[in-house]
Amino acid sequence: MKALVKHAEEVGLRLEDVPEPTIGINDVLIRVERTGICGTDLHIWDWNGWAKETVVTPLVIGHEFAGRIVAVGSNVNDFLPGDRVSGEGHVVCGRCRHCLAGRRHLCANAQGVGVQRPGAFAELIAIPMTNVWKHADDVDPEVAAIFDPFGNAVHTALSTEVLGEDILITGAGPIGCMAAAVVRHAGARFVVVSEPNAYRRALAERMGATLVIDPTERDLHDVQKELGMVEGFDVGLEMSGNAAALHAMVDTMAHGGRIAMLGIPETEIAIDWHEVVFNMLTIRGIYGREMYETWYQMTVMLQSGLDVRPVITHRFPWDEFERAFEVAGSGESGKVLLEWDTTLG
Ligand code: NAD
Ligand code: ZN
Repeated sequence: MKALVKHAEEVGLRLEDVPEPTIGINDVLIRVERTGICGTDLHIWDWNGWAKETVVTPLVIGHEFAGRIVAVGSNVNDFLPGDRVSGEGHVVCGRCRHCLAGRRHLCANAQGVGVQRPGAFAELIAIPMTNVWKHADDVDPEVAAIFDPFGNAVHTALSTEVLGEDILITGAGPIGCMAAAVVRHAGARFVVVSEPNAYRRALAERMGATLVIDPTERDLHDVQKELGMVEGFDVGLEMSGNAAALHAMVDTMAHGGRIAMLGIPETEIAIDWHEVVFNMLTIRGIYGREMYETWYQMTVMLQSGLDVRPVITHRFPWDEFERAFEVAGSGESGKVLLEWDTTLG
């Protein structure tokens, strides 16, 4: 089958013929229809320091996908060939304390699809049945392909109460943009998005942010005055990994404010702990999605009117992957999809 493969010590990916994956008794084989390009895939393309430490090559990469089941292992009863599915990108051990207690998102032995095991930028992918999510019939097929990053947005946004709250989102990448739509849908009052990139500010506006600002031009204290906010932000969703963004967030939170950190900083960030202590802030790290409460929440929010489709700005056939990666890394895009040719098999 055709697949995008990472080879060590070089920039980029190679399009190659690789053997089709085989399935064990508990696995499901899926024909991939659409995949999303994630920041992680861009890091693997660039072969940065994190990628060098984490990825064992050669490896088929990619983890955001939707497709149809073509075969199931002999132990698999609840999935059938033809089912429209996506895969949870973290394969957990099932045996640690957290897995046994049903807190699988806290598994300390999780393996990343397309990072530590073969991924989805291929015609076929095999994953354990415990990682398969069957989509409701009314879920848009393109949105189905981005349930992984959509799930990051939902997990972060709903990690604390947002109904009636004033929210600051720093970073309007695909995930920050989806988070803006999610918290509006969940009843937030003001949703302020801070983002230096003009293309992405426009996207955040389309996704329903109340006010979008360029942090290099506007101070968040001014914004709070303009909106008539008396206290600071109740909730902060950090989705940039940028130090200045985190500093501005800590500085503009209300007493008792809750910060959820999804953004991955490249280096350590010093923060003013006086502000954290005396303003009684909570800072919580968020990783991945909750299995499978987040997946359920995504589905029911879509069914109750949430629309994240505007975040998908570009689509390319799989063999134009080089152009797709270029656009995904340009900053002039939201989510970029690769469409796989399902007529080949
Ligand atoms: P992205 O890189 O596309 O978006 C980040 C955005 O932050 C960019 O648009 C950038 O212009 C903006 N930004 C840069 N400096 C800023 C500043 N000072 N203030 C405000 N915004 C600023 O990333 P994404 O795919 O949307 O993901 C968001 C973040 O979440 C990234 O840091 C990513 O690495 C991380 N992430 C974490 C997890 C997890 O499980 N914790 C999963 C996926 C992604
Ligand atoms: Zn575990």
